[in-house]
Amino acid sequence: MVEIGEGSLSNFWFDNWSSLGPLHLLVTQQQLMQSGYDTKTKLSSFISGSNWTFSSSITVILPQLLPSSSLPTPVPQRKDRFIWIPSSSGKFTIVSTLKLINRDIPSQPWSHLVWSKVSIPKHSFTLWVAIQKRLPTLNRRCAAYLNTTTCLICNNDLESHNHLFFSCPYVKPLWTFLLAHCGFYILRSNWSELIHWAAHHWRGNNHSQCNSVSKLALSSLVYNVWNKRNRSLFKKKKLSANSLLHMTLEPVRLKLMSSTFIESIHTRRLTMEWDLPSCVFRPPPKPPD
Ligand SMILES: [Zn+2]
Repeated sequence: MVEIGEGSLSNFWFDNWSSLGPLHLLVTQQQLMQSGYDTKTKLSSFISGSNWTFSSSITVILPQLLPSSSLPTPVPQRKDRFIWIPSSSGKFTIVSTLKLINRDIPSQPWSHLVWSKVSIPKHSFTLWVAIQKRLPTLNRRCAAYLNTTTCLICNNDLESHNHLFFSCPYVKPLWTFLLAHCGFYILRSNWSELIHWAAHHWRGNNHSQCNSVSKLALSSLVYNVWNKRNRSLFKKKKLSANSLLHMTLEPVRLKLMSSTFIESIHTRRLTMEWDLPSCVFRPPPKPPD
């Protein structure tokens, strides 16, 4: 909405400057054209000092503007100020806009697996789509233009999200290795159950740094499996399981190298598993004087 000053910045028809809302919604296109004022008309066209000066051609089609005492009072020599209502500061922010867009969408129990402070954006995006089973795997109709539906990695089964990201004989051992690397030794029975389990177990503040590492590893493997599958599809290039494992572990390790950890028995184990130097530990807080 607009906090009115001298009216030179605000559009009379389209800006939300009064309790009536944008005025173009109250008139027809024909009435607007017959008023004698075009769509670029500024509020200042109807302001003199701190008074409103509407012409009769305007008040005929918009009698709601009378009496003008019910309208906000213009302030001479002050610029109009645009206020972004969803933000408490009145300033436009992306965060407040996202909250506005998402306010009617319930958050998913797995969303914390995908989006976190430490996540790698391209990994998160692929994981986000994969969890919703919206990647164009070969079992989906959107990939019907290809003349195969067989997994391009193992050439052995229908390529679905569950097969590609979980049960593919090429990928499943990587999950076992990766989860053990994060301190978990029981593999679930399918892709959906794995995500459900991870969403439940890697939530909350307990061992939050270890949970963050597990999430990084999860998204890295999914991203690299999908990347490998695309290399097979579009570039006809094969990648060994060892190379895929290396490509999965390395970005996580690099991310961890740039992080700091609070020392505990869990983070000690973590740094050993990921071969991190001891300098990643944050110095203990100084005792109070
Ligand atoms: Zn496969």
